[in-house]
Amino acid sequence: MITKILIANRGEIACRVIRTARMMGIATVAVYSEADRNALHVEMADEAVLIGPAQASESYLKVDAILDAAKRTGADAIHPGYGFLSENPDFVEKVERAGLIFIGPSAKAIRAMGLKDAAKALMEKANVPVVPGYHGEAQELVVLAGKANEIGFPVLIKARAGGGGKGMRKVDNQADFPAALSSARREAKASFGDDRVLVEKYVTTPRHIEIQVFGDSHGNVVHLFERDCSAQRRHQKVIEEAPAPGMPAEMRAAMGAAAVQAAKAISYCGAGTVEFIVDASEGLNPDRFWFMEMNTRLQVEHPVTELITGLDLVEWQIRVASGEALPMRQEELAINGHAVEARIYAEDAGKGFLPAVGRLAHLAFPNGDIRVDAGVREGDEITPFYDPMIAKVIAHGKTRAEALSKLAGALGRTEIAGTVTNTAFLAKLCRDADFAAGRLDTGLIERNLASLTEAEPAPDHIVALAALAASGMVPAPGGGAVSAIGPFEIWGAPRRRVVLEIDGAEHAFQVERLGADHWRVSGAGLAVDMDLEAVSARGHDWAFRADGVARRCRVAQSERSVAVFYEGLTHLLSKPQGKRSDDLAAGGDQVISAMPGIVKHVLVEAGASVKSGDAMVIMEAMKMEMTLSAPRDGVVAEVLVAVGAQVTDGVSLVTLQVEAEAA
Ligand code: ADP
Repeated sequence: MITKILIANRGEIACRVIRTARMMGIATVAVYSEADRNALHVEMADEAVLIGPAQASESYLKVDAILDAAKRTGADAIHPGYGFLSENPDFVEKVERAGLIFIGPSAKAIRAMGLKDAAKALMEKANVPVVPGYHGEAQELVVLAGKANEIGFPVLIKARAGGGGKGMRKVDNQADFPAALSSARREAKASFGDDRVLVEKYVTTPRHIEIQVFGDSHGNVVHLFERDCSAQRRHQKVIEEAPAPGMPAEMRAAMGAAAVQAAKAISYCGAGTVEFIVDASEGLNPDRFWFMEMNTRLQVEHPVTELITGLDLVEWQIRVASGEALPMRQEELAINGHAVEARIYAEDAGKGFLPAVGRLAHLAFPNGDIRVDAGVREGDEITPFYDPMIAKVIAHGKTRAEALSKLAGALGRTEIAGTVTNTAFLAKLCRDADFAAGRLDTGLIERNLASLTEAEPAPDHIVALAALAASGMVPAPGGGAVSAIGPFEIWGAPRRRVVLEIDGAEHAFQVERLGADHWRVSGAGLAVDMDLEAVSARGHDWAFRADGVARRCRVAQSERSVAVFYEGLTHLLSKPQGKRSDDLAAGGDQVISAMPGIVKHVLVEAGASVKSGDAMVIMEAMKMEMTLSAPRDGVVAEVLVAVGAQVTDGVSLVTLQVEAEAA
């Protein structure tokens, strides 16, 4: 029996595993990097061991440090979570050699599914339908281009070691093939240290439907039905649900049987997911699904399966790893209702989903009949070192419509300040007409991107309220002022100038006190009179009357911003920080990092002539590659960074000669 589990992970999945272990009476050990000293998973675990610096390669991927932590704390099992070492067979072997239980499949099963090409060959043998394509050894451009022609365009190039949609390129015609191949190779090399690829038929109107499987060490395998993960952006899952909308019973049975067959072919033990690509051009048909890959771990989206089956998959993992038989047989499993999960990320949907960082100055999740799996709490920092996921919000309903409506409502009541998030985008997706009607495929988000990412400008009375809150002139009841302010000013000259930045532009407002609770805010083309009715003690709840309508909103202020949560939307107004705005204004002569990250390639040197839009620096941030290009035609004056440098956002990387100098 397992008595103490070390979780070789961080964030929400580490917290998730700790919760179940605790419920089962099992002790827990967290490991953490220097950047995670104060992280939630460290606080939640019974014991915690520092394993190294912030970079994952120096901490969460450091096998020896993790094994040493297990030894020092007397843990008898290791749960890998997802990502990091979860699908690393060498790690599994080392864990087992150290006499510990790995809560996951065998090294052999992971190896069998680790490379997409070998896995496909294996599945063909096991009679599992596989997408037509080339997954052989040859890697020369002529061979691959020839195979692409035989398969027929469009095709998809995939890194054989791929994951997370990286190293993957859709190619529509022969002319684009060479460029797509080299860029897929470059990304594959950078991400996996392996630039070998495979080419397969690009399925049109594709839906991503995956089957949750579970095996035990006694040879039993069951499936826990499907999840639909077709709501994707750049091959990355955005919203996941179970069951799949419109799934016919016979197709569910066929996919479940194929997934069980796949798992049995590798004597699979533990939780796994068999991913299929489905051609939904003519609805869902039992002969239109093909194996893509098997993920030999617990998935990010496992909660939707838990909510429709009423099971705890982490508990099953722990039981099976202890040698117990699966708790249920296939015929005892059933689907109850519908569940939908949304992934909240620190990213700016309006700016091409640019990853963001920042301190979560305010964080409040909705109460009630909603599940929130988070790995952070208020005050925590989203750093560039790890995945910028803040939380998963999961709703369950009797029907899909009910679950979607609950989820959209919960997202609207989620309050996050201190960084931008994709919350509004997710809520809009829940209400998107196509998505709500179940007309989904992996291209839906891209097709409807404009409406899904459309900014919702703050109404005048909300901008005015933000200016009033930021002015610091409103004392909170009970004596404590919203921000420090002298009594003379409250009762004396009742007027202040407040500067706020809205969508990148600075606006000055005049805030005036006209009577006891009567205020006027003017400037930037607005003039709003309002009566303040109540402000809660900590300054979060505001009730006011403007244009004769009584309104309520929530406010969270920090040194850098005012966030107003109103009618399901977050309106974030920044308080300009003098120096940084000046730096950014100089952008015309400089290439400036838009987010913190690592410099991967520098493509220019001093003296080089560049055209506006030429790639100059390639950065990696949040595990994504980002190309920074020349802001105008010109000549490079100076390159200020070297490959490998870590930079924060707003830093000048390359400067151009000023016009007069260059002439
Ligand atoms: P990764 O391991 O990098 O996540 P997958 O093989 O799981 O890559 O594919 C990720 C996504 O790419 C799928 O969910 C699907 O949306 C899309 N995709 C993969 N293969 C195909 C295909 N043959 N045709 C169309 N879309 C595909």
